Amino acid sequence: MTKKVVIVGGGIVGCMTAMALVGRGCSVTIVERNQIASQTSGESSWAGGGIIFPLLPWLYSDAVNALTNNAANFYQALSQRLLQETGMDANFAQSGFLLLPTFDTEAAQAWCANQQVPMQAVKASAFGVQSLSGENALWLPSICQIRPPYLMQAMRKWLEQNNVSMLEHTELMPLKQTAVLNTWQTVHGESLTADQFVVTSGAWSYELLKETTAKLNIKPMRGQILLYKPQKNLEQMVYREGFYMIPRRDGYLLAGSTLEDVGFDATVTEAVRDEISAKAEAIMPQLKNTPIIKHWSGLRPGTPENLPTISAHPSIQNLYLNTGHFRYGLTMAPASAQMVVSLMLGEKPEIDAVPYTCELNA
Ligand SMILES: Cc1cc2nc3c(=O)[nH]c(=O)nc-3n(C[C@H](O)[C@H](O)[C@H](O)COP(=O)(O)OP(=O)(O)OC[C@H]3O[C@@H](n4cnc5c(N)ncnc54)[C@H](O)[C@@H]3O)c2cc1C
Repeated sequence: MTKKVVIVGGGIVGCMTAMALVGRGCSVTIVERNQIASQTSGESSWAGGGIIFPLLPWLYSDAVNALTNNAANFYQALSQRLLQETGMDANFAQSGFLLLPTFDTEAAQAWCANQQVPMQAVKASAFGVQSLSGENALWLPSICQIRPPYLMQAMRKWLEQNNVSMLEHTELMPLKQTAVLNTWQTVHGESLTADQFVVTSGAWSYELLKETTAKLNIKPMRGQILLYKPQKNLEQMVYREGFYMIPRRDGYLLAGSTLEDVGFDATVTEAVRDEISAKAEAIMPQLKNTPIIKHWSGLRPGTPENLPTISAHPSIQNLYLNTGHFRYGLTMAPASAQMVVSLMLGEKPEIDAVPYTCELNA
């Protein structure tokens, strides 16, 4: 009999989980309190930069890197598939990543050598960017990007074409502890029934499950970002000390972002706008005369060590979690979707699932 699954949250993690479940013959419904792939204030997935790479991967654990390793290959194939099957272009591009000092060059070089990520020591000036201490930049030509709003729209269309039901403007109630989950109530009093449920509710996941025994350490971390359209754009993505710039194929340029612990407040601030534009102008002085076209924010699902929870619920049967991807949800979503689907189908995941297991709250 076809397995019926309800996914709670229609961001990148929910949509990727839905795609993986469709591939395994499940009947899938995504429940989203706003609209899937819409630019709604707060949700992280449309707001992100789209770099398919953890900014400085040598700073993260093997468990984080295990989820990010093959993401670029996956997205390259996915974007071709989405273009063929939906006619929509997610703007995948191998634009490379230029890392400006300061960072631990030895650790970076060792990591790249170990992971077989091509890397070259270069002078930043050769790339037409202004570097404060110029000489020791690193060039990673194989690093890729995708455009999150376009990706989300293409995935939405693919999901519709593949008979995924979308219950939009439908919010689920925080869950009460129970032994077995068969139905989940919406805030309007409807009961949704399924064989299995998956929480992919990003920054809101803790609020949804805090009355259950799940030990979840997830909180919103705001990120603000600016959009320019300079006369002459960068050709590669550039990073310096937590700050990055991402050129798009059609001439736009993103600059960001912040990591702000301000709760569920998705407003944008003038102080951050000034801070980001100063950092952008230090790398690209010509931006001083370029208007800022847009300024937005998203609430990332922040977790310690950037480690998501991909797991069965510790005490509620039929309930699974795929959440807490913090800064790299786009990059981790493909591997994390495969993992949660394997767990739901009783199979052994390709990547060891133990580091992402949800513990019982003591
Ligand atoms: C500025 C910024 C830049 C970023 N850059 C990158 C990057 O370059 N590369 C990268 O890999 N990652 C990046 N990220 C991180 C990435 O965007 C996130 O990790 C990812 O989007 C998280 O996806 P998600 O689906 O878990 O959450 P979300 O996109 O937030 O989706 C969760 C959804 O659940 C819904 N929901 C919540 N509660 C309920 C409920 N009770 N009922 C129904 N629906 C509910 C919400 O409305 C929301 O749509 C960036 C993030 C930001 C903010």
